[in-house]
Amino acid sequence: RHVLVGNHRDAWVFGALDPSSGTATMLEVTRAFGKLKKAGWSPRRTLKFCSWGAEEYGYPGSTEWVEENMKSLLTQAVAYLNCDTAVRGNYSFRGRASPLLKEAMLSATKKVKDPHNADITVHDTWAKYDPAGGTLNEPRVNVLGAGSDFTPFIQHVGIPVTDQTYTYTSAWKISSYPVYHSVYETFEIMEKFIDPDFTCHKAVAQVLAELARNLADSLLLPMNPADYASAIETFANASLSSFRGIFTKKDGISFDGLYSAVKNFTSAANEFSKKVENVDKNNPLAIREINDQMLMLERAFIDPQGLPGRPLFRHIIFAPSSKNIYAASSFPGLSDLMYGLDENGPEEQWEEVKKHLAVIVYTIQAAAKTLS
Ligand SMILES: [Zn+2]
Repeated sequence: RHVLVGNHRDAWVFGALDPSSGTATMLEVTRAFGKLKKAGWSPRRTLKFCSWGAEEYGYPGSTEWVEENMKSLLTQAVAYLNCDTAVRGNYSFRGRASPLLKEAMLSATKKVKDPHNADITVHDTWAKYDPAGGTLNEPRVNVLGAGSDFTPFIQHVGIPVTDQTYTYTSAWKISSYPVYHSVYETFEIMEKFIDPDFTCHKAVAQVLAELARNLADSLLLPMNPADYASAIETFANASLSSFRGIFTKKDGISFDGLYSAVKNFTSAANEFSKKVENVDKNNPLAIREINDQMLMLERAFIDPQGLPGRPLFRHIIFAPSSKNIYAASSFPGLSDLMYGLDENGPEEQWEEVKKHLAVIVYTIQAAAKTLS
């Protein structure tokens, strides 16, 4: 089984932030793991560190590698941890992850000290500045859209992915840091203004190292299908509130199938959690079975046909919105088909909507079956 960590090495100009803050961070993790290995550490799973070319051209480097290694990735890759632009500000950590890895991401940030205050953790600052909302006293962990090398891993194969960064305040309301992709992305800017003591780099490196260690070394994979169930439920509710008005005016279409699929998936995930709690940790076959089920879960959300009109995006639950490639959209195929459509819209388009809703329902039911 393999845990992959990677970043690109090409840059628009000097690339001090994008990608080199990420590459420096990743190399620091390899240095630390190298030391551990020399001291006798041997992780249960293989760690692979990847350096990609041509990310800025639309990531053909990682995409072609994924295509070439599709078969082994399908059966062996546990997770891909992307490490692009590890530092773009000094305000707060921000981690994005597939729902399966949300818990592992949160637990890693609880183990790392805040770069500016050793009495609190990265998790504390993150939860304060970017709260999940509601009754949860935890940070927001968004799913990923596209726009970096994690895309082929999650969208072509169905490998859970993460991306982590230290960033600026969201109060600035800017789409990226001011020197993004410009000739001013220099080491001097980083050293003078953004992270003068490199403690933000260190914090991201420690989170990344802990995530990789946990995934590579834990007896049971640190993945939680119940988090996937609540993510899908949230997405389904969001879709319902967007489209309920139109759906009620249209004959022969409803969300009932989707809701019963989400319900089935949730109860399968809860049953699975019980199985994980009660597993005999001295039984290697039972451990293997659970780990393989976790490994295959994200794969179940991949439709080999791809999303309607977008064969390269195959994840049914989330994918980049076709209207904004950096943002993630839930049930992206449905959102695309419904874009600008009303109850009087063309019948062929409504047929596509019905067909795709059936695909979503089938996919979620099939994913629930992988957990039983
Ligand atoms: Zn980049």
